[in-house]
Amino acid sequence: MADFLLEYGHKPGWKSIFNVLGITVPPRLERLKGSWKKQILAGKKVVTATGGINASVISNINDELGGHALINSLPADDRADVLLFDATGIETVAQLKLLYDFFHANAGKLANNSRVVIIALTPDPSPEGRGERTASQQAIEGFSRSVAKEVGRKGATVNLVRVENKSVTENQLLPVLHFLFSEASAFVTAQVFRINSGGNVPQLVSLEKSLAGKVALVTGAARGIGEATARKLAAEGATVIVLDRPEDSDAGKKVAESINGKFLTADMSKEDSATIINDYLKKEFNGVDIVIHNAGITRDKTIAKMDEKYWDMVLNVNLQALIRTNNLLLKSGTIRKNGRIVCLSSISGFSGNFGQTNYSATKAGIIGYVKALSEELADKNITANAVAPGFIETKMTAKMPLFTKMGGRRLSNLNQGGLAEDVADAITFLSSPGAAVISGQTLRVCGGSYIGA
Ligand code: NAD
Repeated sequence: MADFLLEYGHKPGWKSIFNVLGITVPPRLERLKGSWKKQILAGKKVVTATGGINASVISNINDELGGHALINSLPADDRADVLLFDATGIETVAQLKLLYDFFHANAGKLANNSRVVIIALTPDPSPEGRGERTASQQAIEGFSRSVAKEVGRKGATVNLVRVENKSVTENQLLPVLHFLFSEASAFVTAQVFRINSGGNVPQLVSLEKSLAGKVALVTGAARGIGEATARKLAAEGATVIVLDRPEDSDAGKKVAESINGKFLTADMSKEDSATIINDYLKKEFNGVDIVIHNAGITRDKTIAKMDEKYWDMVLNVNLQALIRTNNLLLKSGTIRKNGRIVCLSSISGFSGNFGQTNYSATKAGIIGYVKALSEELADKNITANAVAPGFIETKMTAKMPLFTKMGGRRLSNLNQGGLAEDVADAITFLSSPGAAVISGQTLRVCGGSYIGA
């Protein structure tokens, strides 16, 4: 069922009725159409505050993306499209006042669908890093998540980028900022991106068409998030293998044909699926660059009433199958150097969900799994990450009870649910060469909410 408030709230007659009733109409989010664009900030006003990172890095990135840079604040009555605050120089509680000064002056001037990014240091766990400096850097996380709640009703997003040290390079920062400033991150807010200093980005990489020549496998791609992901990966140039169960072959084949991809039938619940995938990828493509583990199921019941078979089924498809498949693909050298693995976790993996002990266990398991796997694969420059969707409007969430659904939508900072395309955009970013600096992380695509499927 469509979101009534979003559908009618922007129609003239209805808008005034909602206003009188005191109902906040969710903003219309501007989303990425087609493939990535290069100069995403062309014609946009970018207000920056420099800090510990060399100011030329920030200004070069702004130039590369085509933004019109303004330092520290805007003229009165003007609107900012991007606020970029470098907080890496903050070492004391007193210096946190810099955040107050900048955001007090500029947060009220944000345009609709604007973007806020704060860059901070990864809090240093070494003895000399403990204490006030660590506290001050950690404080920035609470600050940014709160600003995200305050400006979300404008469709504005706020994210924090953590770097290991102030000498982070332009090559490492640019792709992440490109994603966060773009329409591709419309439903990503209140998140923390950690840039690994070991992440090797030898040149300035644009996200646009950056998957040309890559081979990608997406499991469960006949519909929903998997289908949207297959389409986005293909739009950036990848050859995509759409995998789904035999009973979903017709839908899967249609998706594959429409993106000039291939269709592969495998039931991930069966032990032989890993061999089927591995043999196919070896034979047809001599390997694979991007593997998206998207196939997933729910079988909800409270733990006291849950059939053993429901437990087994969900644990098998959502967690065991992807570990089994990765083990074989990695052991056989099928995933190429500089490869990308992205697994679908869920908000319920962080917060748990009533009636979803089985599902939440698998989705939490994935968060730990990608963390461990990323360390194992670092020397091959293969990254392993997860994406945790919040409330996303798909067949899976359409089945939810009405009030849970309303909660899922309204409790997000952006006052609405996300779309399959929002998750697909995040997956596509994590699959790109520019995302070499991000590994072992679980990115929530949830509009800043902890409610979802
Ligand atoms: P969906 O039910 O619309 O699509 C799932 C796809 O996986 C289908 O095409 C289905 O045929 C396929 N699939 C299921 N079992 C399979 C098997 N054994 N072998 C091969 N393919 C199989 O689901 P969705 O909403 O698009 O979700 C996709 C992923 O995102 C899932 O892992 C889900 O847990 C996760 N997720 C979704 C949401 C949401 O709000 N929709 C939220 C959090 C996480």
